[in-house]
Amino acid sequence: MLNIVLFGPPGAGKGTQAEKLIEKYNLVHLSTGDILRAELKAETELGKEAKKFMEKGELVPDSVVIGMIVAKIDANPNAKGFIFDGFPRTTAQAEALDEVLNKKGTPISIMLALFVDDDELIKRLLLRGKDSGRADDQDQSIIENRIKVYNKDTAPVIDFYDDKNKYKAIDGVGSIDEIFFRLCEAIDSV
Ligand code: AMP
Repeated sequence: MLNIVLFGPPGAGKGTQAEKLIEKYNLVHLSTGDILRAELKAETELGKEAKKFMEKGELVPDSVVIGMIVAKIDANPNAKGFIFDGFPRTTAQAEALDEVLNKKGTPISIMLALFVDDDELIKRLLLRGKDSGRADDQDQSIIENRIKVYNKDTAPVIDFYDDKNKYKAIDGVGSIDEIFFRLCEAIDSV
């Protein structure tokens, strides 16, 4: 089983690359951002609760996203592997994911962290906001808060995987195909 954490700040290209990787490696894509936006659109209780955090660029509480991801893993018993995109975003989430996957005997194979400088991230997100209509991509102060939250709460997750020798840094600047090639090289060397 190939279980990949695709990591990086908002706008690093995780979603774009995940779409290409699931096709090549026949994996299931689990994006907590996508799942939360679907809940929001369906106006579920979870969606209404999550909206309060998402519209400010804050993290949705760990208990909510951990419960969500565990349900999705359990709903895909025949998966050849998963790409976790936008999850884990805190060390507590990484610990919970580890526990669930270790119990199943299918631990994380590799954590691929995309690196892109802040100016480029802001440029990409504002552009995406114009195309996608995502409210949190249209307001520069919300974008800046998301990057701040990434640096404070999410970047420490790198140490969690580094300690387990599973962390690989990937240059996230270049063409989509160039970055895809770098990711595949890292995966194929696992
Ligand atoms: P994303 O699409 O990954 O940029 O996520 C959009 C928003 O959803 C984030 O700004 C958070 O408010 C929320 N979110 C997504 N994934 C998580 C997570 N793993 N933990 C907490 N909040 C999350």
